Amino acid sequence: MSEEVISTDAVIVGAGPCGLFAIFELGLLDIKCHVVDILDRPGGQCAELYPEKPIYDIPALPIVTGSELTHRLLDQAKPFKPEYHFNQMVTELTKREDGRFELKTDGGLVFNAKVVVIAAGGGSFQPKKPPIPGIEAYEAKSVFYSVKKMETLRGRDILIVGGGDSALDWTLNLQPLARSLTLLHRRDDFRAAPDSVKKMRELVAAGKMQFKLGQVTGLTGEGGVLASVQVKGNEGPFDITANAMLPFFGLTMKLGPVAEWGLNLHENLIPVDTAKFETSTPGIFAIGDINTYPGKLKLILSGFHEAALMAQEAFHHIHPGERLLFQYTTSSSSLQKKLGVA
Ligand SMILES: Cc1cc2nc3c(=O)[nH]c(=O)nc-3n(C[C@H](O)[C@H](O)[C@H](O)COP(=O)(O)OP(=O)(O)OC[C@H]3O[C@@H](n4cnc5c(N)ncnc54)[C@H](O)[C@@H]3O)c2cc1C
Repeated sequence: MSEEVISTDAVIVGAGPCGLFAIFELGLLDIKCHVVDILDRPGGQCAELYPEKPIYDIPALPIVTGSELTHRLLDQAKPFKPEYHFNQMVTELTKREDGRFELKTDGGLVFNAKVVVIAAGGGSFQPKKPPIPGIEAYEAKSVFYSVKKMETLRGRDILIVGGGDSALDWTLNLQPLARSLTLLHRRDDFRAAPDSVKKMRELVAAGKMQFKLGQVTGLTGEGGVLASVQVKGNEGPFDITANAMLPFFGLTMKLGPVAEWGLNLHENLIPVDTAKFETSTPGIFAIGDINTYPGKLKLILSGFHEAALMAQEAFHHIHPGERLLFQYTTSSSSLQKKLGVA
């Protein structure tokens, strides 16, 4: 695994709505951000749990879906050229002797940052594992719950299991590089975007992949290398030849590695003060659903406010002794220049 060290002002852990808005608030103060998320896309709960549900309490947006809010936040952050690292879980966070912070991800990235903003929401989304006997023996070699590098699946006989967006998106993305690809789902009815389902059916009709109905009951192989998968179908059992299986059965939320970073915790949340939203370690901030303080409301708008105040204090960590002028975006030509609208 390569150890690429990325030096930056701020690392934001979590690309949920609060992490995304933090890019904007930090950007206004010239603070450059890298943003890391376990998921393969931005938006946190909004994107993962309710992309098509309308939200009614975002100020000045009387109705907006989780997915649209995410896109608007990404657009708003764009002028500050944030760098996103998806499919990466921040596993380690330590304070260096020079006062900066080192963060490591499970994908081998290493960051060296002046400040850290934990916007990890309810914690890390972790895959729900299917109840297949002995599946652990195949994990990471033949069974994958996410795709970190598509190339590792090139030329393989791939079985994708599930009927949601992840299952369908990966079916379409991996089909061109697979030797063979089968999609297996319990029923001929999908929770995924209709356009993805249509494209999958076109590939089946063109003979480029297979779609089967049924549930996985067992795995056969040796030394963690899968050879075939046993399936209980509506009309009896059958086998599918596969040396890579990707089950997409949804996600659950667990606090995850945040608990091991030496921060004070209260009932799995990070206590912060309400002036700076700083944790028990100066230079590490916590905003959004992951933090707690008297009167906390787990609402997106609370996280937006927290991001604005956090950025002010982060500025003082990054530029000690420098005065920070309070400015409005409506009237400050310097802020407008940063936003690219001057
Ligand atoms: C069904 C539902 C409906 C809701 N409706 C509303 C509503 O109408 N109005 C409202 O204001 N709020 C609503 N909420 C709550 C709202 O979604 C949350 O308050 C909001 O998502 C919190 O944003 P966040 O950025 O703090 O965290 P999240 O959205 O949880 O994002 C956190 C991100 O951090 C990532 N992460 C965690 N740990 C790590 C790690 N170690 N390394 C890398 N990444 C990590 C996660 O993968 C995740 O993407 C609703 C929630 C649900 C479930």
